[in-house]
Amino acid sequence: MMCFDYRDEVLHAEGVPLSAIAADVGTPVYVYSKAAIRGRYRHFAEALGPDALVCFAVKANSNLAVLRVLAEAGAGFDIVSGGELVRVLRAGGAADKVVFSGVGKSAADIRLALEAGIFCFNVESEPELRRINALAGELGRVAPVALRVNPDVDPKTHPYISTGLSENKFGIPIERAPAVYRQAAALPHVRIRGIACHIGSQLLDLSPIGDAARRLVALLRTLQAEGISIHHLDLGGGVGIRYRDEEAPSPEDYARAVREALDGLDIPLVFELGRAVVGNAGVLLTQVEYLKIGEGKHFCVVDAAMNDLMRPALYNAYHEILPVRRRGGDSAVYDVVGPVCETGDFFARGRELAGVAAGDLLAVMSAGAYGFVMSGNYNTRPRVPEVLVDGSAYTVVRRRETLDDLLSLENTG
Ligand SMILES: *Cc1c(COP(=O)(O)O)cnc(C)c1O
Repeated sequence: MMCFDYRDEVLHAEGVPLSAIAADVGTPVYVYSKAAIRGRYRHFAEALGPDALVCFAVKANSNLAVLRVLAEAGAGFDIVSGGELVRVLRAGGAADKVVFSGVGKSAADIRLALEAGIFCFNVESEPELRRINALAGELGRVAPVALRVNPDVDPKTHPYISTGLSENKFGIPIERAPAVYRQAAALPHVRIRGIACHIGSQLLDLSPIGDAARRLVALLRTLQAEGISIHHLDLGGGVGIRYRDEEAPSPEDYARAVREALDGLDIPLVFELGRAVVGNAGVLLTQVEYLKIGEGKHFCVVDAAMNDLMRPALYNAYHEILPVRRRGGDSAVYDVVGPVCETGDFFARGRELAGVAAGDLLAVMSAGAYGFVMSGNYNTRPRVPEVLVDGSAYTVVRRRETLDDLLSLENTG
């Protein structure tokens, strides 16, 4: 499904011209397509089968309206904080479909999750296991746990989003896992449910996911031989998407790779997909402020900046940039940059843009994941609004921050 495409030379989100949203809401603004989010979720859920719990990794896009779309589609949720749990519940998500990941779970967040009755804690260390046991005891509960193991496979992605190598901070080394499972089995207030892993993000090659799954199966057999039973395997997320010309795995490819790795093993599976569900379902709409024509270099200065979309500055990530009104004309090569006082404040370098002029609208594509959620207020820039398009209608699902919003938390001492 093409949810962002040109009609009469104007880029639309579903049935809505992006120019109409810019005129109404202003720029910069994030625009999401409900059909794209729902369509991608359903595609994965169908490919992975009815026995899979397909969770959405909330950290990729935590807007309440986005979570609502996914909750209505039947999604579970992968959270990394108590705040994300509150969002999921507020959006109508089911607590008993929530998995809780993260290397530094606080006591307050663990209590919140115990009280809500989540599906599973993915435990990342021995001290965390003991803390969960103690807090569950205090609350008179039994905590469902999986150990997040680090399978030590190289996901072949950007080092900042690689998590499954033994040098990364995430998870329990897989060789150490049997001993920790034995400890867990002896604790009175936890109940062993699964084995979990997550090896990295934006994975384009499925073989590391298969390798990780095979290592989990081997661990499961070791544990079963010791009489420790495992209810599910959680294979994490990390499926990559196309930003430029990458060959991203389809949901069917992914499901096939997982099935092959499991080699006939019949066990409930959990997935934690973020980027693959929402990455291509959103754009950041921005307006050209100035064209700065230099000696060797041309700059296209836009009103969005690195504080609104950090991925290019943080990962040197590529985002396609499309004119909202396609009108041809001479093309020139620009660095597309924001107003923030940092050289890292760019969206593209050496990018060819046709017929662009000050005042034009540009769409920074594939900004639905790790976009708004990573935004901040550097340079005292209020965070931008978010809009959800549904057919020919749209709703502002987060209003633009005002300077009063920003300053209201401070005083002059
Ligand atoms: C970030 C994260 C995910 C989601 O990763 P994507 O690449 O967005 O699919 C899943 N699980 C855990 C534990 C994560 O930290």
